[in-house]
Amino acid sequence: MPDHDTSLDPPHDSLVLILGAGINGAALAREFALSGTSTIVVDTGDLACGATAYSSRLIHGGLRYLEYGEFDLVRESLAERARLLRLAPQFVKPLRLFIPVSNRFGGVIESALRFLKLRRAAATSAPRRGLWLVRAGLRLYDWYARDSTLPRHEVVSPQAPDAPPVDRRKYPWLCSYYDAQIRYPERFVVALFDDARRIAAERGVSFQLLTYHQAGLNGTTASIRPQGAEAAVISVEPAAIVNATGAWVDRTLRQLHVPSKTLMGGTKGSHFVTANTALREALGDVGIYAEAADGRPVFILPFGRSVLVGTTDVPFSADPAEATASEDELAYLLAAANEVLPSAGLTRSDIDMYYSGVRPLPRVDETTTAVITRRHWLEEHTGGAVPVFSVIGGKLTTCRSLAESSVVAVRDRLGLGPPPQTSRERPLPGAEGYSADRTLRERRWRRVAEETGFTVEQVRTVWELCGAEAATILAECAANGRDCVSGTDLPRRFVRWVIDHEWVRRLDDLVERRLMLLYDPRLSRATLRELAAVLVEAERLTESEVEAEVRRAIDRLRFHFGKRVE
Ligand SMILES: Cc1cc2nc3c(=O)[nH]c(=O)nc-3n(C[C@H](O)[C@H](O)[C@H](O)COP(=O)(O)OP(=O)(O)OC[C@H]3O[C@@H](n4cnc5c(N)ncnc54)[C@H](O)[C@@H]3O)c2cc1C
Repeated sequence: MPDHDTSLDPPHDSLVLILGAGINGAALAREFALSGTSTIVVDTGDLACGATAYSSRLIHGGLRYLEYGEFDLVRESLAERARLLRLAPQFVKPLRLFIPVSNRFGGVIESALRFLKLRRAAATSAPRRGLWLVRAGLRLYDWYARDSTLPRHEVVSPQAPDAPPVDRRKYPWLCSYYDAQIRYPERFVVALFDDARRIAAERGVSFQLLTYHQAGLNGTTASIRPQGAEAAVISVEPAAIVNATGAWVDRTLRQLHVPSKTLMGGTKGSHFVTANTALREALGDVGIYAEAADGRPVFILPFGRSVLVGTTDVPFSADPAEATASEDELAYLLAAANEVLPSAGLTRSDIDMYYSGVRPLPRVDETTTAVITRRHWLEEHTGGAVPVFSVIGGKLTTCRSLAESSVVAVRDRLGLGPPPQTSRERPLPGAEGYSADRTLRERRWRRVAEETGFTVEQVRTVWELCGAEAATILAECAANGRDCVSGTDLPRRFVRWVIDHEWVRRLDDLVERRLMLLYDPRLSRATLRELAAVLVEAERLTESEVEAEVRRAIDRLRFHFGKRVE
């Protein structure tokens, strides 16, 4: 019987309060719903407005973690990669990556010392990893991923027709291997919450997501306050609280008055996006795993019609919401990209936008950020009237397994026993009927277009955001007009549907985390005004608030993304 069969068990209704609506909070809400547990998820901002939106967007085993002996993490991540490729193919797609290699034996001693924990740091200028070392790592990676449907690694010549145009004099070898890419983790989070809502309705348990709210704790009572004065405070008596606020974990514990040592030691990572046509065409459908001068990986990845380059790793202790990419970081990334692809000749003016996020890493006393473990665990804070747990660490890739093990631990602590069902075999909404074959997909888009009256381009645009759910959504929207928001291929009715169904409150929710328009070079002030008009129609804004809201969205785009909107 499949894991998601609804008829198995009567629901247990102990309320768990989840703080944080990033990928981990969302995966937890879905997993708790599957186990028959009610949840309220509270976020001080929008869903997916933390590290989840500012990552490298890879679903990967973490090749370089092998050098630090993190075998369990690599094994777990590769198993999750395989599962996500199968259960969420509308979001997670295979990606071929090339590692340019300049020498045969470089880095072996360094790597052995790191592995044996005799050297913790990558030096400021590390020897380049040579062919022997890279192949050894990739063999191990293939071995751990042995159940994967993805092809195994190979060594190819830079002259090979499918090879990216790296500097051939400097890099006589290219090692190719596969990982996976998730273009919009933000949309993945929406799908997780959508699924949590569906499961909760099926199981007869409750699920609520409250964005732009703040929780406080007094004894056994949690009070949940909306930002702004108008709505009433909600009081609940949760059986447990899970603090899944990523890099904010320590700040959240202080807000709840839960005593704790400092748990987090996040590092800032920045990326830039370039629409440089020569680079985009040269890259095709593959990515490059380059090595910066300090030995850190820098990924050069296809990203829609643009290219995504990142990342950096800089200690960061301020409010994670304030992290932005510095000019030094952008220069570092440009240098790393130009070193492997000198023909692209990227300059600062090629950077169309950038973003920066803080990794929710555990606090350790390491001298270099690269060696901090990427493992995750659940920390229990004892002594309070309500059990409080904090999620430490975690990657996009392992959100599901993190949620699964956390739900087991929390239920165990509450005496609820093991969860009757898990998400191991449950597809995400939009996966069913989704074909990885482009020709079949195009045929389906044409059919949906004929059935609903939308254009094929409109169908494709919605499909890229929602997967196969696009067919149902557009059928629901079809009766009410087919015009687009100007400068986009998004039907106005679809925008309204998103506002009504996807927890939208503000203009930047729509632009940055639902419609993903921040990555569209056509985004203009006129588009923002039209979106704001739909928010007015849906009673999220009043007419008099529109101008301020548009200005706020534009200021955010400039401050966080270096993007100018005219
Ligand atoms: C630069 C960078 C690159 C990365 N690349 C990858 C990658 O390629 N692959 C991969 O697998 N992983 C990657 N990661 C890691 C991954 O992005 C994170 O581990 C993951 O997104 C963490 O999710 P989260 O839900 O725990 O935290 P977040 O996404 O940060 O969410 C935390 C949420 O908590 C909310 N919040 C804060 N304070 C409170 C409060 N007091 N009450 C309620 N809510 C609150 C925030 O608003 C936010 O929405 C990367 C991370 C970074 C920073």
